[in-house]
Amino acid sequence: MGYFPSVPLGPTLAVSLQLLSLVRQVFMRMPPNISAWCESLEAHLASMGYKVDTKEGIHRRFSNAYHWYCILEISVDEYVQQHLESAATPPADILPAVPSSSHHPPDVSSSRTWPLKYLRKHCPLCFGSHNWKNNNSSSDPDAIVCIDACFTQKCRRSQQDDPVNPTGSVFLSHDDIDTMECEVEGLRRTKASVQKRSGQSSKKNCGDEDRFEQGMRIPPSVLKGCNESFTAADERCQKASTQFFSDTGVMALLCHHDHVIHLANMTSAGEKQHYALALIKSLFSHLPDDFHIGLLYDIGCQLEQSCRKWGYLGLFLP
Ligand SMILES: [Zn+2]
Repeated sequence: MGYFPSVPLGPTLAVSLQLLSLVRQVFMRMPPNISAWCESLEAHLASMGYKVDTKEGIHRRFSNAYHWYCILEISVDEYVQQHLESAATPPADILPAVPSSSHHPPDVSSSRTWPLKYLRKHCPLCFGSHNWKNNNSSSDPDAIVCIDACFTQKCRRSQQDDPVNPTGSVFLSHDDIDTMECEVEGLRRTKASVQKRSGQSSKKNCGDEDRFEQGMRIPPSVLKGCNESFTAADERCQKASTQFFSDTGVMALLCHHDHVIHLANMTSAGEKQHYALALIKSLFSHLPDDFHIGLLYDIGCQLEQSCRKWGYLGLFLP
């Protein structure tokens, strides 16, 4: 047919597949903005003498058509990928040509010796080869990833819930983020009360500013300077209003080829540490125990200090 409807039955708008494909490509290269796109299209049609015949314009209907068109495209890709993979896997009754001891089965059951399929799919260059097994140095990372937050991607409170999305997503679930937030608060409370009982306080380091804290490779004076110069390091700094926005920003974890590994929707006014911690924990849940990750983050030193001080992500620290 060549057109995609806004609803399955009795649609009042159908959009050309070529136009939807163009919009998808545009939104992959710039921040998606359906409202601006629809207004531009309506203005363009008006300049050619055509008028949209409803008060509400085409925004809601175009948005529906675009959403389900994207779901269809992603589902087709996943379907083709699944069949390619199953065609590439030999049937169970055919023995592999190499001895089983040197054969690396490429799926989840080998989670301790091979990064999970999720990571191999998102970046085969970082997670798809065996090179990391030859790296015996714990100081050389097997893959480098980076984290940063962006407070320009917001969602208004008045916005209705997201439409259903049955495809796989790189976004962490709200439950994962909430669990990490509770874990962080619990560890802070526990450690703070233990320190209080044992009479320790931060004041004891006064006058000894360049003495390294346990596990840290930079002195406290540098940490202090970073904390003062980076607003991102101040969790209480309000970068977006939670009064007007339900999602205040997005935090991303990318590999060094700029492939997205995970995203986290932020709902707090500032850049809280539990988002970065949830992203890192999720990354490590896909990796073998002896896979080393190098992490780039503009306030990485603050995050590491917190991890060592409060005991976050203890299993994953070097
Ligand atoms: Zn990569």
